[in-house]
Amino acid sequence: MKVHDIRVHPIHTEIPAHKRVESGAGLKLARQMCLIEIESADGLVGYGSPSGPYDLGVLTALIEGAIKPYLMSVDPGDIEQHWDRLYFGEISRNSGNRSVGMAALSGVDIALWDLKGKTLGVPLYDLLGGQFHSDGVRTYASSIYWDTTPQAAAEEATILVDQGFRAVKLKVGRSFDHDVANISAISHSLDPGIELLLDANQSLDRIGANRLLAVAEDHGCYWFEEPLSIDDIEGHRQLREKRRIVRIATGENLYGRWAFTDFVRNEAIDVLQADVSRAGGITEVRKIADLASCHHLTWNPHTFNDVITVAANLHLVTASPQAAMFEWDITHNSLMDDLANWTLDVYDGLVRAPDGPGLGLEIDMGFVKAHRWAGQPSIGAGHPGRS
Ligand code: MG
Repeated sequence: MKVHDIRVHPIHTEIPAHKRVESGAGLKLARQMCLIEIESADGLVGYGSPSGPYDLGVLTALIEGAIKPYLMSVDPGDIEQHWDRLYFGEISRNSGNRSVGMAALSGVDIALWDLKGKTLGVPLYDLLGGQFHSDGVRTYASSIYWDTTPQAAAEEATILVDQGFRAVKLKVGRSFDHDVANISAISHSLDPGIELLLDANQSLDRIGANRLLAVAEDHGCYWFEEPLSIDDIEGHRQLREKRRIVRIATGENLYGRWAFTDFVRNEAIDVLQADVSRAGGITEVRKIADLASCHHLTWNPHTFNDVITVAANLHLVTASPQAAMFEWDITHNSLMDDLANWTLDVYDGLVRAPDGPGLGLEIDMGFVKAHRWAGQPSIGAGHPGRS
């Protein structure tokens, strides 16, 4: 089989001002993505997406200029070979094996897996070994953001539990007092057995992370995500040494198996959050999940941007023999709700991957054409160095 065409569609959807959320990662102004279509000679189309926020112009140029010419001459089914050739031949030398270069490869890899599933007529999780989580995948609501009062945060957590979630995540890192008040209010409002997760988006320094870890331990929080800069492996190691029951999680800004190996080798991580749509695609993140298993750690992916990235991560989690804690974006997001024929359905804390061939999604190309990106920004600057 050959590839007939590869198309890239940069998409922009505005977030209404009253629905925008802020965390240590910045203020979200819009949701954006690059929809990748890989069409085979027999007319099947595989869909992929590099998770954002990356510059859509750079992504489009990389995929069309550096990756497409190679894939147009090969059998798209030999995915492992293509990953290796593209990574060592282009991404690690020219495009960047961290951030946007690896993300471009990730999106293409997802599209190749989707195409393979459609060609064989089976769901992606079947290609990956079948359903390990056959009853559904444990999920958490992501997230309650900075711009809330403790009372409103507690009320929002209660509403999410009423909707079927059994775990919720709170963004921290705005200020110590604000974080403590929110954690305390939510903890006291939740029934036993409902998990509370914290996420600082790398916005704390070592002192601030240590102070907040003590609070998280007192309240029995499930994990503490991105407490520090991803460049501070030693800081993560020191923090993990102090933790008793709170897992140290990071990885949404790490790329490839070797970056995660550095954290594992230094005993600086409990939960590897490699995202299929950023860290190297399904091909690479399968290896990172196995790395976690080899060291008795856990892989729970970050997944946020759009319905394709979420479905791709969910298929791999469904097939993976790991304790699941799957991220589900509850903020305003047209790329989750309006792009495809699949939306949130959480029941008793569990979600299920689509069961059609490949990713199991049908894309609304009318929506894609109506929301073409024209250079708009997607996010304000983050807030590093807060404590
Ligand atoms: Mg996060």
